[in-house]
Amino acid sequence: MIQICSCCVVKGIIIIRVVCTDAECGGVLALFFTCVLVCGLHNSLVWSGVCLSGCYLNQCYCAFHYYKATKTSPGHPPTVKSDIRFVSVCKKCIIPKPARTHHCGICNRCILKMDHHCPWLNNCVGHFNHRYFFSFCLFMTLGCAYCSISGRNLFLDAYNTLERIKHLDMEKPGVPVTGIGALIGLLPSGQTKYQTPAPSYTFMDKMFNKCVIFMWVLTSTVGVTLGALTCWHAVLISRGETSIEKHINSKERERHAQRGQIYRNPFNYGRLNNWKIFLGVERKSHWLTRVLLPSEHYPYSDGLTWEIYTCKKDLIPV
Ligand SMILES: [Zn+2]
Ligand SMILES: [Zn+2]
Repeated sequence: MIQICSCCVVKGIIIIRVVCTDAECGGVLALFFTCVLVCGLHNSLVWSGVCLSGCYLNQCYCAFHYYKATKTSPGHPPTVKSDIRFVSVCKKCIIPKPARTHHCGICNRCILKMDHHCPWLNNCVGHFNHRYFFSFCLFMTLGCAYCSISGRNLFLDAYNTLERIKHLDMEKPGVPVTGIGALIGLLPSGQTKYQTPAPSYTFMDKMFNKCVIFMWVLTSTVGVTLGALTCWHAVLISRGETSIEKHINSKERERHAQRGQIYRNPFNYGRLNNWKIFLGVERKSHWLTRVLLPSEHYPYSDGLTWEIYTCKKDLIPV
């Protein structure tokens, strides 16, 4: 059976309350708390320290990218007269729309390189905050996967303990023994025909085990669903597409196929170049300073003008 101090149980209750009010932030906190629990139960002090540091780092990355994704404007086309190249005019905003720009019905504005409107961020995901959104999903998935895998035994232990408590509750002291147990009454004096009282489990024992189960289920489900979403976005980024352009390009591909033609995405600059553009990598050192470490740099391009069918290999000579 897992033993835990009352302090941890109080933390667990607080986290459940936070989860109820804000699923996204609560998930982050639950992730952190589970990490602490899992690390605290490791035998090796050094390994526990490494895990705890990794969890804190992951927590910082998640918080940073989540904050930046919510607070960074996705980018809007200019509303005043300018000489930018545009492909159409928005019928709702009555302004020129540059390439890859789409109108968001929720924000009621045109968004540069719009991907989708995210209700969890309460913000549109567009040119300037797409990287933050993807990084948040990635680090959140990694944290959830870590908690889910390393906390599996903890979850099984908690589940078995709860089952045992439920079973013992059914055998409360004072309940007469029936059937074969009645034979106990035939035993010598000193024996009783009542069962031995079951070992007592405190409210905190039950709460702790329920918290562990809740957090494991939460991190596992979030890990799987968010992991699938992250993989999907990674595929789209590799192809140089947004979620909206995926549908547009699919239709265009079908339309051209009916005519016997092959359609090619005009903004696909090659897999590596697409990632460099998305991550804003312009020098080799940027893989460390801009990708592995949290960074506030602006993405490559201003989001207003896009080169079409650029040379694949040497777009960014990194
Ligand atoms: Zn518009
Ligand atoms: Zn929007």
